[in-house]
Amino acid sequence: MRAIRLLEPRKFPELCEIPEPTPGPSQILVKMTAAGLCHSDIAVMDFYAEALNYKLPMTLGHECAGTIVDAGAGVKSRVNIGENVLIYGPWGCGHCRACAEGYENYCENATAENITPPGLGHDGGCAEYFLVDDPRFCIPMGDLDPVAAVPLTDAGLTPYHAIQLSKAKLEANSVAVVMGVGGLGHLGIQMIKQMTPATVVAVDISDDHLALAAKVGADVCLQSNAAAVDAVKDLTHGQGADVVFDFVGAQPTIDLGAQMLKMRGDWTIVGIGGGSATVGFGQTPYECRVTSPYWGTRADLIDVVGMADKLSIHTETFNLSDGVEAYHKLHDGTVMGRAVLVP
Ligand code: NAD
Ligand code: ZN
Repeated sequence: MRAIRLLEPRKFPELCEIPEPTPGPSQILVKMTAAGLCHSDIAVMDFYAEALNYKLPMTLGHECAGTIVDAGAGVKSRVNIGENVLIYGPWGCGHCRACAEGYENYCENATAENITPPGLGHDGGCAEYFLVDDPRFCIPMGDLDPVAAVPLTDAGLTPYHAIQLSKAKLEANSVAVVMGVGGLGHLGIQMIKQMTPATVVAVDISDDHLALAAKVGADVCLQSNAAAVDAVKDLTHGQGADVVFDFVGAQPTIDLGAQMLKMRGDWTIVGIGGGSATVGFGQTPYECRVTSPYWGTRADLIDVVGMADKLSIHTETFNLSDGVEAYHKLHDGTVMGRAVLVP
């Protein structure tokens, strides 16, 4: 079968021909119908060999939609062959305290037991078939279109989880800044608008991405530079934003975010752009909360799937064989919304 695989650190992946996987006793075989490409894959491609603790070669793809076509003897009675599913990506052990609470994204045993998300540690979904380790990671998607729905598994789930953390601060007359209007940001804007009464300020370096922000409901759209800080201050009577969601996480956005935040505000750094912030008394606004959430819970994903028909999910579709070209476009910042591979 065809698969888009990372063969070496610090290189783009390649289209490869590999054998179809066969499910072990507790595994499920999924025939892929769509795979979303995330900027985190670009971050992974950038890692030097020392920092990349994944065994290569590895098939990329941690946003997966597909049809269950087979399962091992141990789980066959627990799955519906032929069912269309979205795959919950941050797999956990299922037994620890965090997993018991639903926070498989923060599984306490993941590191020790080498449990990794598909495409971020072992073979993922940029392929014709892929293996899922447990039926609970298969979330029924009903008759949703897989191309539109697949971004929900990360580009939807991650902002949703981040917004939930700050909902109490996004009350009447509040202002939320969304930095980076890509796959995550364009859904994050819509979710804030639907889940809270906050005014949403979108910040990006690309006019096209700011146009998308306006289209999906951002109230104010700003170029990502020092003038954006003044604009946010003007909008908030000098106070700053109640919540800054940074879906870039690079040094330029961290530096802007630091200046935009209000006292007691939330600063939520989701992007893994390699930037870092100075946090401490007198360095950050009084009583602000800085978090760097990772992905979301299985319950969050079920909620997000339930919101699907209220979201305008922008995608650019590529054939699986054109996956390398799609990653180049994502790297160059020219994808609008989410790039999705279709086998
Ligand atoms: P994307 O490539 O689709 O979008 C990135 C957006 O950021 C683009 O619109 C781009 O124009 C904009 N941008 C780039 N530099 C900017 C700057 N200096 N100021 C303002 N905007 C800028 O990326 P994505 O797939 O949406 O991912 C966003 C980030 O979130 C990535 O760093 C990704 O690795 C990370 N991520 C984190 C998690 C998590 O669990 N924490 C999950 C998924 C993705
Ligand atoms: Zn991702």
